[in-house]
Amino acid sequence: MSGILFINGRLYTAGPKDADSVYVENGKIAAIGRRDELMLQLAGRDYRKVDWDGGFVLPGLADSHLHLGMQGMKLGMLDFTNAASKEEMLAMVAERARTLPEGEWILGLNWNENQFNPPVAPTRFELDAVTDRHPVFLTRTCFHAFLGNSAAFRLAGVGEDTPDPASGAYGRGEDGLLNGWVYEDACGPFNVVTPAPSYAELKDAMRRACRHALSLGLTAGHTEDLRLLGSIDTMLRIHQELREEGLFFRTHQLLFHDFLPEAEGLGLRPGSGDDWLRVGAFKLFSDGAIGGRTALLSAPYHDAPHTSGMAIHSRERLVELAAEVRRLSFPIAVHAIGDGAADLTLGAMENAPLPSDSPLPDRLIHAQVLNEALVKRMKGLRLIADIQPRFVASDFPWVLDRVGPERTEYLYAWKKLIASGIVCAGGSDAPIEPLDPFLGMHAAVTRSRPGEKHEGYLPEEKLTMDTAIHLFTRGSAAAAGEERERGALAAGYFADFTVIDRDITRNPDELLSITAKMTVVNGIIAYEEA
Ligand SMILES: [Zn+2]
Repeated sequence: MSGILFINGRLYTAGPKDADSVYVENGKIAAIGRRDELMLQLAGRDYRKVDWDGGFVLPGLADSHLHLGMQGMKLGMLDFTNAASKEEMLAMVAERARTLPEGEWILGLNWNENQFNPPVAPTRFELDAVTDRHPVFLTRTCFHAFLGNSAAFRLAGVGEDTPDPASGAYGRGEDGLLNGWVYEDACGPFNVVTPAPSYAELKDAMRRACRHALSLGLTAGHTEDLRLLGSIDTMLRIHQELREEGLFFRTHQLLFHDFLPEAEGLGLRPGSGDDWLRVGAFKLFSDGAIGGRTALLSAPYHDAPHTSGMAIHSRERLVELAAEVRRLSFPIAVHAIGDGAADLTLGAMENAPLPSDSPLPDRLIHAQVLNEALVKRMKGLRLIADIQPRFVASDFPWVLDRVGPERTEYLYAWKKLIASGIVCAGGSDAPIEPLDPFLGMHAAVTRSRPGEKHEGYLPEEKLTMDTAIHLFTRGSAAAAGEERERGALAAGYFADFTVIDRDITRNPDELLSITAKMTVVNGIIAYEEA
């Protein structure tokens, strides 16, 4: 196989200072240096040249925690995030109705009438006027209220005489008729009739998400999709078929623990797969989230002293589940947001230690509230912290009141974690947060939302730009057990490159206006700016 000489890049590397070119062979970096030097070395060899045209070249960025399937489903729905009026919302529904076959559902999300002027949402009748040939069901930005047209109400079997459920309601206008609003659990009948996505739709969603990721400069993602896809077999088939189509996004697959029997039946081992798809840890949940006060804290919430949150599994059950995973010698990756959840999780890991020859470490996912004792226990395990810096931008300042002053020292305390020797990997948790890795880096470096001008939330925890880049390169590689093959621009490493239009090492504001010029995965140009 002939090689590729990539020339004319500004390389983010510890290698030779004046290097501007990389020679790639068999998917790996063979040499880094100055173009003239490399061309001299390659004299007489058969290779092609690709011009990076002055682009800034990072080691391929990998998102350590996301849900590609849900991200793709979201990309396929109408997204009203930027709709500024009821009319705009209706126009988007009308546009979709024009192209969608009759009878298919029009689904949408993120509408918020409070940002409309005047602040009113469309009614059932206004939706009917746009289309009565498609059922329409639109989720409000809060996920607690919905809007349907008459076709959707008919299919759901909800009529003027349908009583409200115990914890929910159907909205009514001044005339007493259903106006299209559906609140809380009243959405149940609609969920039943909204069709489950077909194999083709799931594959479309995955294709959209992978393409989107590549266009943002991501070369890989550690994804957890089985609850959406329904089986490991489906997951493997979709990714195989997408690769055959020429879609080259690399995935590291976390397996939801319910799929342990299927994994065992398929004979999967930790690290099973190839250079495009690898099987990683089993994913477990130990708590919920801070926003709804379901994250498990070790002591009551500061702003709601009657609750400490919610454990998904009892201590005994979590220990049992971890032991089941260990029977197959797999690592575990546990969603743990509160310090109470981290305590349960570390306990389960300590009880059933990771086999010493495991190719992959365990992971503590999110790790938003910790304390000194927990960090000490983390250091005693082969464990990486899988963190989502964007949560800082979304959760502050209200999280301070939830957690209270006594626990802020270890609140989203990424710098402290790294300083104590814990390897951290950076992810987005898309579609919960935006997939764009540079937004994650921005939050890690500024501890603020884009556009905010202040010192940052808990500014002593701000990371340097180099450390923020490491989260998405070396950190993600370490989480996948690939620290010696990915995450750096160095000879012998896989040729994964994220080529962007600007140097990001000087000013974090630059992170907000990046364009990805080229994304190279395993030496293949997987995305190129049009
Ligand atoms: Zn997640």
